[in-house]
Amino acid sequence: MNRLKRLVLLGGGHAHVHVLNALSKNRLPNVSITLISPFDRQVYSGMLPGWIAGHYDIEQCVLPLKPLARAADAHYLQTAATKIDATRKQILCANGDLVEFDVLSIDIGSAPQYAAIVGAADHAIAIRPIETFIEHMTTLVEVRQRRATPMHITVIGAGAGGVEVALALKHRRAELQVSLVSGANTLPGNIAPRIANALNRAGVAVFAGSPAIEIGPNNVTLADDRVIESEQTIVALGASAPSWLAMTGLACDPSGYLVTNNFLQSISHEFVFAAGDCASIEAYPRPKSGVYAVRAGPPLEQNLRAALTSRPLTRYVPQTRSLYLISTGNKYAIGSWGRVSWEGEWVWRWKDRIDRTFMAKYRKPGANRPIL
Ligand SMILES: Cc1cc2nc3c(=O)[nH]c(=O)nc-3n(C[C@H](O)[C@H](O)[C@H](O)COP(=O)(O)OP(=O)(O)OC[C@H]3O[C@@H](n4cnc5c(N)ncnc54)[C@H](O)[C@@H]3O)c2cc1C
Repeated sequence: MNRLKRLVLLGGGHAHVHVLNALSKNRLPNVSITLISPFDRQVYSGMLPGWIAGHYDIEQCVLPLKPLARAADAHYLQTAATKIDATRKQILCANGDLVEFDVLSIDIGSAPQYAAIVGAADHAIAIRPIETFIEHMTTLVEVRQRRATPMHITVIGAGAGGVEVALALKHRRAELQVSLVSGANTLPGNIAPRIANALNRAGVAVFAGSPAIEIGPNNVTLADDRVIESEQTIVALGASAPSWLAMTGLACDPSGYLVTNNFLQSISHEFVFAAGDCASIEAYPRPKSGVYAVRAGPPLEQNLRAALTSRPLTRYVPQTRSLYLISTGNKYAIGSWGRVSWEGEWVWRWKDRIDRTFMAKYRKPGANRPIL
């Protein structure tokens, strides 16, 4: 009798959430599945600013992974991978386990980017890894509740994440002194004026045109010598590749991201697949964003299934444009698609509906708290 083929899903990222859900509906015969993830829940970052603003409980923003794994008949291993030996087809985990695979799929997200800011590692919170960020934000909220005087908070990085976090904090506590440092503009040009108006209306102080170069315990220094008072600094500078991937022997691009072909298959190892922030499709560079990680789920599932049953793989070309929906804290949002943009309370309700629908789709029976 043939032995079972071993599929390992490394990371409980957005694409793997879809893979598990699809496998629960249509099982793969003669395949054993293992999910490795250090946290037993997957945070849906799109709803995180809503949690900071006080619109959601954290349970509404996370997908418990155990029920998803159980439904797909997958073995769940709660640990992080620290090494991959692609030649021996083995994964070494932080808890000492050695996991062997025949087919490996990697969806482990990205690492924080500090952009060489002096003092960032000692005096700032990064928005990635997101679980650590949640812990810090919870402490921050408690500290704020105990303080009589307003706290100065600085968010460095004015991309979608930084803008949303700054506005959500200001909405949660109007008395907070929130500053936003915008070294370079990373948002679509057509919504920049709408974002600027929202920041202005909310009373977020914007420091534009000069990057942060140093973070101290109580301040942030910009390249043009301006100094911002800051008791708590949040670095929201976008993504970088998890550094250990470069040591796996799997093909990586110059930035350290895994490189795949159009089948989401490593260009160096045909039995390894990768999707989401940790990977880039050769010749189709796309921003590191949840939208692309979510969209990669169905083609990844299709190709893992094909690889395990020796059927032909299907090409996947990621979309060129994506819908931006940026919440501004007060149940109001700004959206853009290509050159068109909108804003209003209805945009927030639209975003809220999209987010809740996504969560409801992947929330399995047994998850501790259903969305209301
Ligand atoms: C505050 C914030 C707001 C954002 N808002 C939006 C938004 O509105 N829209 C949008 O499109 N994007 C948004 N993003 C970006 C979005 O979160 C990421 O692009 C998205 O999460 C990437 O999905 P992923 O599946 O690749 O990785 P992740 O969601 O990061 O998931 C990776 C998973 O792998 C696990 N993992 C990590 N390392 C290991 C390891 N060594 N071994 C095993 N498992 C591991 C992690 O625990 C996690 O479960 C936001 C990001 C932040 C920080």
